[in-house]
Amino acid sequence: MVNSCQSCSPCREGLEQYCEGPKGWTATYNGPQKPDGTNTYGGYSNNIIVSEKFVLRIPDNLDIKAVAPLLCAGITTYSPLRHWKVKPGQKVGVVGLGGLGHMAIKLAKAMGANVTVFTTSPQKKVDASRLGADDVVLSTDKEAMSKYELSFDYILSTIPTSHDINPYVNLLKRDATLTLVGALEPLEPGLNNSQVAFHRRSITGSLIGGIAETQEVLDFCAKHNIVSDVEIIPIQQINTAYERMLKGDVKFRFVIDMASLQQDSDQEIFS
Ligand SMILES: [Zn+2]
Repeated sequence: MVNSCQSCSPCREGLEQYCEGPKGWTATYNGPQKPDGTNTYGGYSNNIIVSEKFVLRIPDNLDIKAVAPLLCAGITTYSPLRHWKVKPGQKVGVVGLGGLGHMAIKLAKAMGANVTVFTTSPQKKVDASRLGADDVVLSTDKEAMSKYELSFDYILSTIPTSHDINPYVNLLKRDATLTLVGALEPLEPGLNNSQVAFHRRSITGSLIGGIAETQEVLDFCAKHNIVSDVEIIPIQQINTAYERMLKGDVKFRFVIDMASLQQDSDQEIFS
């Protein structure tokens, strides 16, 4: 996010990501710029000019290569964990172990929560434990899932596509909340509201975070020495990286070394 209207109620409250201005906020990537309508190119740009209100300070003690994903996967998971007030000792579930999920584990652990990861991939169990998860559950194992009914204070689903959330709703305690940060489309199958109503549970969504909170997550990560697990690539490998990303073959974010763009400036990169 590199701009917003700055005058609507959410913007005045530091929640620029929920800008209600007529043009909404401007995305860092592929966001039509005002007033000329050309697109932003985010991290693919050599440089970018933004209002000082949208500039963030990177703490000195963090490895800058691994900081980049904190500005997306980091804030996207930090903001709901904070908004729904995850506290030390609470039982938190993280559904899905990709770029968002791996940050959710690290951040929830740093907040003092007991973290359980739900995954469909047995081979991800080792990664989840290494990242700090207290428990890993194969979501395809119905018997294992049933042991966790009514036990979670909060669940964050990071699955980026439509999925069945009903098995996770059953795991929430009374009055507890499940937040979806990955899927931005209709859920299939639909939500069984009897599971929601009978225990007064809440199903919610959340979008990145405001600028002030994005600075907050950077400072929180500096304090707890948290960065993203990244694989650095030269820009010349971006198409291969894209194919690997589609297959889930990345631990856990690709980061482009922009010096490689400069080195290759006389050649055709995307041939
Ligand atoms: Zn606004």
